Amino acid sequence: MARITLDHLAHAYGPAPKGPQDYALKEIDHVWEQGGAYALLGPSGCGKTTLLNIISGLVRPSRGRILFDDRDVTDLPTEARNIAQVFQFPVVYDTMTVRENLAFPLKNRHVPADRTAARAEEIARLLDLTRVLDRKARNLTADMKQKISLGRGLVRSDVAAILFDEPLTVIDPHLKWQLRSTLKEIHRLLDITMIYVTHDQTEALTFADKVVVMHDGAVVQTGTPEELFERPAHTFVGHFIGSPGMNVLPCRVDGATAYLDNEAIKLLRAYPALRQGQRIELGIRPEFVQLQPKGFGFPARVRRIDDIGRARIARVEMAGRAMSASVPDNVSVTGDEAALFFDTRHVHIYADGHLMAGE
Ligand code: ATP
Repeated sequence: MARITLDHLAHAYGPAPKGPQDYALKEIDHVWEQGGAYALLGPSGCGKTTLLNIISGLVRPSRGRILFDDRDVTDLPTEARNIAQVFQFPVVYDTMTVRENLAFPLKNRHVPADRTAARAEEIARLLDLTRVLDRKARNLTADMKQKISLGRGLVRSDVAAILFDEPLTVIDPHLKWQLRSTLKEIHRLLDITMIYVTHDQTEALTFADKVVVMHDGAVVQTGTPEELFERPAHTFVGHFIGSPGMNVLPCRVDGATAYLDNEAIKLLRAYPALRQGQRIELGIRPEFVQLQPKGFGFPARVRRIDDIGRARIARVEMAGRAMSASVPDNVSVTGDEAALFFDTRHVHIYADGHLMAGE
């Protein structure tokens, strides 16, 4: 196991990058602590797979270094990095049994036969593969084959880290939940650094202790699921995480008051560091904006109310800005005129997309 450090890492696929727009990864500094369960979360094309391939050695970065503890591995090939990888699609030997498939990575490294057999059985038990241990892989379903791939990734106990690249893509939806919590459980038992790439926030938030959010080739925030929800460091994180995401509303701030046109929202802190002409936005999650009958808060117009199972969410307009608000169980609104109550403890101010610290 190792702590993995990315030091000023950047990568462009093309031969002569001219500016930031030509880089798939832009100047990443990041530390993956030993033994952590990390999710690497971001929309399609933000650079997750590129980053994973750089850690494993499949791609050499254009700039910067990768360290495993204090050892610089930037120029080492994949085989010399001691990394296990699980991909989107099953990588199994069809003609081998499940047992042989699980044992393969250990046999390859000349681990004694008795230890290999015991470890293969342990991993099979954790993934609920015991009853098919002596079946040929080719006779099994795609779900089962992907479980074998997971098992092959998990079987070595001496790896620096295990990298998962959207490993549940081919898994049947009803099995996904189960397998996700199985992986989490396995992480607790094995205590190996795991980095799990996904664009699915539910998958990231249920698997990880720490979520690393990427946007446009950069890491924009690393935090626990609670931190990402409570204090998004960037408007992108607030918007990307949550269902629906955080409201991001252009505003003007004067001292400890935010103005949405003429509606004044008292803030808990003042923001004297804001510069004249800076692009400023107020962020608040729909969970902390409550729809109320007309007259009980800021005037708003209701466009529609959706029942999303665990809550009712209203699409509303206030001071010319469209946003989402939650509708408390005891509130019924007739017509389209209503009011909004903002829980100011959960209001954040962003300048040029970045969270501002108030004073
Ligand atoms: P996805 O979730 O769709 O796999 P991702 O977040 O993993 O996306 P990457 O696959 O790392 O993102 O891609 C990042 C950027 O680099 C994208 O603009 C992509 O088009 C580009 N890219 C990726 N691989 C290559 C390649 N081999 N050659 C050229 N450009 C590439």
